[in-house]
Amino acid sequence: MRFSFFGGAQEVGRSSILLSDDRKIMLDFGIKVDHKTEFPTAIPSIDAAVISHAHLDHSGFAPALYNENSCPTFGTKPTLELSMLLIEDAMKIAKNEHSNIHYHKRQANIYNTKFVPLNFKQPMPFGNYDIELYDAGHICGSAVTLIERKKGKENKRVVYTGDFKLGKQFLHSGADIVKSDVLIIESTYESREHPDRHKLEEKFIDDIKATLDNGGTALIPVFAVGRSQEILAMLYKHRLTPISYVDGMARAATTIVSKNSKFIKNGDILSKAIMETVWVDDYHVRKEALEEPSVILTTAGMLNGGPVLNYITKLNKYSKILLTGYQAEGTNGRQILENGHITVKNSKIKINNEVEQYDFSAHASDSDLYEYVRSSAPNHVICVHGDREHTMHFAETLNGEGFDAYAPAVGDTIEIPG
Ligand SMILES: [Zn+2]
Ligand SMILES: [Zn+2]
Repeated sequence: MRFSFFGGAQEVGRSSILLSDDRKIMLDFGIKVDHKTEFPTAIPSIDAAVISHAHLDHSGFAPALYNENSCPTFGTKPTLELSMLLIEDAMKIAKNEHSNIHYHKRQANIYNTKFVPLNFKQPMPFGNYDIELYDAGHICGSAVTLIERKKGKENKRVVYTGDFKLGKQFLHSGADIVKSDVLIIESTYESREHPDRHKLEEKFIDDIKATLDNGGTALIPVFAVGRSQEILAMLYKHRLTPISYVDGMARAATTIVSKNSKFIKNGDILSKAIMETVWVDDYHVRKEALEEPSVILTTAGMLNGGPVLNYITKLNKYSKILLTGYQAEGTNGRQILENGHITVKNSKIKINNEVEQYDFSAHASDSDLYEYVRSSAPNHVICVHGDREHTMHFAETLNGEGFDAYAPAVGDTIEIPG
């Protein structure tokens, strides 16, 4: 059994791992959206693909598989719908910026038709294998993938976690831990813990209420898929939805999530939240949103484009910007935290409003990562989706605990006997 890494190894972004055994199965095929977009290092010929979840670092290059290949892609229904939303948006952005995304609409359409939606815990026979998905607790439809070799050679269970979280979120109960012989696990937050979710939520809501009481707007930049729905449900719980506005791709993503309620918990709360909030669909509503103290939930989460840029320069002095996640280097989100400005169309704009960052991460914490490995009880562990330092440290620690652990780099191949 061989594993080859075309991306997402000793890095976060463009996850793509090829399992070569009797069949060739691609686990994720994403892009890395940074200063410039990076792609998996090759487009191999394969027999099937599995997409763990919709985020572009896992799904963004899937259409490129459909040039010569004509194979099934497995994943959940929300993964298909949300990834199509993000892929279509990425194609639009690439077109506007005259950059190349290296696939065409025709291929995105084939990806759409070749996709085989699976429910959790419903094994799908494929050659000598069963492919089975479990809840990863990360975003709507996110899956832990089990590929179990049942026929031919010795029985073997390969588990790929994708992005996961063991801790509870408002809409997710936490990942299923699946027993494995070979475990491929994300490492994003290795060596780091997230703050207590309950206390964080309290502080966040207090901050919003104080801003509103002062006569300001609480501007909340969010990632369209995952974070927007979590925050929206949270706002409902604290009775803030009647004065909340939702703008940008967060609207379309929230609609898809709410239609796939069997893949989330508290789906009823999300539907009620949608009913109460104002959906911004034109310039007038955007203007109205800023006239009275209100909460505005809008993309992009790292302030790199999207309607958030329409609001951020028009806030009154009592308003506050509440960032809800990690801000990558070089993004406006990182700049505003470090030196209080953003860059739009090559010109620097000073932002005088207060800014606060909240860690509502949907990823496993350090203790989640080790708990997953110990309970999944594999012989071999492959640490991916983390920077070099953290994947190496993770693998070293696991080797010390008696696991056979690796932290491959892009371009590496790992051969596992049996
Ligand atoms: Zn993700
Ligand atoms: Zn990811």
